[in-house]
Amino acid sequence: MGQQTILEGGCQCGAVRYRIATQPRWVGHCHCRMCQKAHGAPMVSWVAVPAADVIFVKGALKYYRSSEKTGRGFCPECGTPVACVPDATPGKTAWFDLALATFDDPTTFTPMMHVWCDSAMPWLPINDHLPRFGRGLEAEEPQAGEK
Ligand SMILES: [Zn+2]
Ligand SMILES: [Zn+2]
Repeated sequence: MGQQTILEGGCQCGAVRYRIATQPRWVGHCHCRMCQKAHGAPMVSWVAVPAADVIFVKGALKYYRSSEKTGRGFCPECGTPVACVPDATPGKTAWFDLALATFDDPTTFTPMMHVWCDSAMPWLPINDHLPRFGRGLEAEEPQAGEK
């Protein structure tokens, strides 16, 4: 993790821009089927930040409710999946999971682990030495099990 205290990011087209005013509480790779489907990707790397520390400086995400409570926020212009939230009701979520690759400098983060490895792609070898969990982490976030 760098010394930067303000980190910025946004969608591909630039219509939605965000800033976080804190260091993330959790950074990890998720291999669950929901993330794979929502991002059209074999895995998704996430940066978890308290909602109070996420500021949208331009535009706003549109939310798709991917499960009973979990919402996924994407740019209404270009469709870039930017966030996953444990409560899709606007203004009610306690956490934002921001897609790591949407940050302007994705290299600044240090992933801590892999979760939902039970559904990881067999043709994508995990060669790092991070801890691996077959499913989600109950302790990390309220809805980690439903991501
Ligand atoms: Zn966009
Ligand atoms: Zn996931």
